[in-house]
Amino acid sequence: RVLVAGSANLDFVVRAAHIPAPGETVLGREFQTFPGGKGANQAVAAARAGGADTRMLLALGDDAHAVPVEASLREAGVALDIRRQTAHATGVAFICLSDGAENAITVAPGANAALVADDLPDLAGVDTLLLQLETPIDAVTAWATRAREAGVRVVLNAAPARILPDALLRQVDVLIVNEGELAMIAHQADDLISALKCVPVPAVVVTLGAVGCIARDGTDLHLQPAFPVAAVDTTAAGDTFCGVLVATLARGATLVAGLRAAAAASALACTALGAQSSVPARADVDALLRG
Ligand code: ADP
Repeated sequence: RVLVAGSANLDFVVRAAHIPAPGETVLGREFQTFPGGKGANQAVAAARAGGADTRMLLALGDDAHAVPVEASLREAGVALDIRRQTAHATGVAFICLSDGAENAITVAPGANAALVADDLPDLAGVDTLLLQLETPIDAVTAWATRAREAGVRVVLNAAPARILPDALLRQVDVLIVNEGELAMIAHQADDLISALKCVPVPAVVVTLGAVGCIARDGTDLHLQPAFPVAAVDTTAAGDTFCGVLVATLARGATLVAGLRAAAAASALACTALGAQSSVPARADVDALLRG
C-alpha cells in the first residue's frame, strides 16, 4: 500500500497568449477549475497506475472548494484521511497557462499549511510513504522519521524548490527532483552528475522535462529518455511521474522499470489540460510502453 501525505488544492486556470510580466495585464481566454495540489495529483497518479492500494492524508477547508477536490480523489479510488480545518480555506492555486505550454503558478496553501506531525495515520500495512513540500516542513520531517522507524520506504518529491534540512534528507530512500530543485539541495555541485552523486540519499531521480530523466541508484546511473508527444499542458507532468514511479516500485518493480512507466505516463499527462484530469489510465500507459 502507498500512503501519500500532502497538499490538495483547487486550481484556477486561465489560458493566455503569454504569461504576464510583473505589472502587466494579459487578456486571457477560457477559464476552468481543476482539482490539483502536488500531493493529490500524485495520489491520483498512483491510484490510476493501479496494482497498489493508495491512501492519502490531506487537509481541506469547510468550504465549497473542498467538494471537487475530494470528489476527484474518491473517483480515482484513493482512500482518504481528511483533516477538516474550520479556521482555514481549502488550498487554491492560480495558474496562467501560455500557448507555448509554459505556466506560472501562485498557491495559497490555506488548510494545507495547518497539517502537523500528529496528523499522520497509522502506518500498518503501508510499504511506501510519498511526500512533497507543499505542507509544513516540520510535519514532513516528522512523517518521514516515523515512516523510517516503521520500516516504510520514504520517497520525497522535493517540490517546490527549497533547501532541505539534514534531518529530513537523512530519512529519504528515494528523492525525486527537477533540475531547479536539485540545484537548491546540491548547491555546491558544478554539474548535474556531481550534484546527483553528492546528495546523501540512496536513490535520486532528476526529471529533465522534454528530455526525460536521469537517476542514480547507489552508484549506478540510468538515463530514461522522454516519450515524444505534442505537449499542450505540462501541469502535473512531474506529479504524474512521481505517483506512477512510486506505484510501480510498490508493486515490486525495479527502479529502471519504474522510470520507464513514469516517463510514459508523464508524457501522456502533457497531452491533456488540467492536473488530475490529465493523469492517464493504466491501459493507455501500457499501450505506450508496448510501443
Ligand atoms: P516538473 O514539472 O516537476 O519540473 P519535468 O518538467 O521535469 O517536471 O517533467 C517531469 C517528467 O514529465 C519528465 O521527466 C518527462 O518524463 C515528462 N515530460 C515533461 N515534459 C514533457 C514533454 N514535453 N514531452 C514528454 N514528456 C515530458
